[in-house]
Amino acid sequence: MHMPGTPLLSLIARAAQEVQDYQTKLQREPTKARVSLSGEPYVFLSARSLALTFPQMINETFGLRIGDKVIYQLGYIIAFAEAEHFFQARNISLKELDYRVLTGTLYSAGTGFGNVELLDQKLCRDHTFHALWETPNSFSAEAAIASGLPGRYCHIQAGYAAGWCSAATGLELACQEIACAAEGVKKCRFLIAHLQHLTSKVSDPSFHKPRSSYYVIDTTNQVEVIQ
Ligand SMILES: [Zn+2]
Repeated sequence: MHMPGTPLLSLIARAAQEVQDYQTKLQREPTKARVSLSGEPYVFLSARSLALTFPQMINETFGLRIGDKVIYQLGYIIAFAEAEHFFQARNISLKELDYRVLTGTLYSAGTGFGNVELLDQKLCRDHTFHALWETPNSFSAEAAIASGLPGRYCHIQAGYAAGWCSAATGLELACQEIACAAEGVKKCRFLIAHLQHLTSKVSDPSFHKPRSSYYVIDTTNQVEVIQ
C-alpha cells in the first residue's frame, strides 16, 4: 500500500480551506434572475434531468450512446472553465500542479458533483499522470438506482474530473468510470489519465484492486477537520 506523505495531506487541507472560502461567495438575486459564485454567473439545474433524462433522450434520438458522450463533454467543459476561473481568481499558477488538481476534489464536492476519496495518484506533468478516486454519492448513480436502471451512469462526473485535471495540469487528460454504484458496488470509481494512455491504464489490474488495498484519503473529511 502506497502511503501518501504529509505534504499531500497538508495540500488537501489547504485546498479545502481555499475552496470553501471561494464557494461561500454564492449570491442569489431573484429579482434580477441572477445567481453567481465569486462573480461568475451560475444557473441551477435539476441534477436528475442532467444525469438521466438528457442523455437518455439523446441516446434514443441518435443511438450509439451519443448522449453519454455529450454529457461527458458537458461535464468536461463546465469543470475546465470553472477551474481556469478559480486558478486565475486565486492566483494559483501551473507551478503548483498537484495543488491545482487537489482543489478539484473539493470543488466538485462543493458544487454537488460528489465527494472524492482518493485511492491512488501520480500528480505530474507528463503522460504518466494518473488519479484514481471513488465517489460515494454521485447524483447520477443515485438517480439511476432510484429508477431501477443498472449500469454505468456517471458520465458527467467523469467529464468533470477530466476537465478539471486537464485545466490543472495543462495535459490532455480523460477519465473513465471503471465501476458504478448503479452496477451494485458501494462506490463509483474513476480513473483519470492521459488521453493517449487511458485505455491501456483502464486494463491495468492495479487500478481495480479492492478499496482496502489503497491508502484512502477522504478529501471531504479534510474540510471537516479544518472547520
Ligand atoms: Zn457511478
